[in-house]
Amino acid sequence: MGAYEAVRGFFESAADRLGLDASMRALLDTHRRSTTVQVRVPMDDGALTTFEGYRIQHNNARGPYKGGLRYHQTVAQDEIKCFSALMTWKCALLDIPFGGGKGGVAVDPKKLSEGELERLSRSFIREIAPVIGPYTDIPAPDVNTGAREMGWMYDEYSRMFGDTPAILTGKPIALGGSLGREQATGRGGFLCLDRIAHHRGWTREKIRVAVEGYGNAASWFSIFASAAGYRIVAVSDSKGAIHNPEGLDPTAVLEHKKATSSVIDFKQADTIAGDDLFALDCEVLVPAAMEEHIRDDNADAVQANLILEVANYPVTPKADEILKSKGATVIPDILASAGGVVVSYIEWVQNLERERWSEDRVNGRLAELMYGATDAVLGRAHEKGNTNREAAYEIAVDRVAEAERLRGDW
Ligand code: GLU
Repeated sequence: MGAYEAVRGFFESAADRLGLDASMRALLDTHRRSTTVQVRVPMDDGALTTFEGYRIQHNNARGPYKGGLRYHQTVAQDEIKCFSALMTWKCALLDIPFGGGKGGVAVDPKKLSEGELERLSRSFIREIAPVIGPYTDIPAPDVNTGAREMGWMYDEYSRMFGDTPAILTGKPIALGGSLGREQATGRGGFLCLDRIAHHRGWTREKIRVAVEGYGNAASWFSIFASAAGYRIVAVSDSKGAIHNPEGLDPTAVLEHKKATSSVIDFKQADTIAGDDLFALDCEVLVPAAMEEHIRDDNADAVQANLILEVANYPVTPKADEILKSKGATVIPDILASAGGVVVSYIEWVQNLERERWSEDRVNGRLAELMYGATDAVLGRAHEKGNTNREAAYEIAVDRVAEAERLRGDW
């Protein structure tokens, strides 16, 4: 089953339980607009290379399309369609006034120089400019993109249409970015974990957490969780994983990664195979890298009782079933990975008002929205005897369907 079919399945079963009629189902089951573009990049050696780029807009009943732009060699239409729909459900669940979109370029950014990446970013935003806008569709960072890329794209868009900071979120602070945005996905995941720990009466110091990945979301998640008292016992990257049952110092791991380009061979830990991280003895497992990393072939080995999806779609439906049969609780991506888009919303509000919020104000609002959504999901799951993913989808799909109905476009 492809990624798109899987997320569609989560929607379909929520639609069944909510009793959505056939027209509403058809409307929410398909994307409003899919744009494929040719991204032309003059390379350093004088050649002109073209890459395939996408911006796929799923639904905008609750507000402008919103979602990231990723650079990765696996980017393809089906994958972007999946994440575009996930963004619709994520924004609805967090109750922020956006719909869902996603985009990306099929490219391995590690093979490009900085100059080539800048030209790629400028070319891509020029190509999708006709379908985006500060009240239409607001892109943001995603896998392998960050403030630097958003800065180039904001500049390129503003050269065409005049200064428009609200066209993109996740910009550098000096170009209208929000304080706290860089840390937001990791902080949101941490707030979600901490809320659950609070409800379960856990003592933070006793909770061992294994984190798959060490990019932006994974590293900030580890830093916040460790500072609060949780024990981060393992982290990983594409080269392997490191494990220390006593707990790692996430900031020292980050420095080691910056210096050596990997987490492996960190001195105060054992280096293990990347896949072995999933089977470690721990209470919480946090997949915070790419999609479909927990599958039917490795889900059975998972020891953790709580799986927090800080990545988008890291657990396949079959793996979800296996984890459920083992009695483990999965906290779905549309909740646990939502911190980034929540602070994107706060950045957009600041840009439209030409205002600047203090970091405390940003983090306070993020916590309010994350705790509210976490309580709503846990409460509904408990009340209906559903999984957290089922509860989260029911809340989200119901809100989008209500907005569609109230717009009256029948
Ligand atoms: N790429 C992030 C996500 O998957 C953030 C999207 C945004 O901020 O618009 O949620």
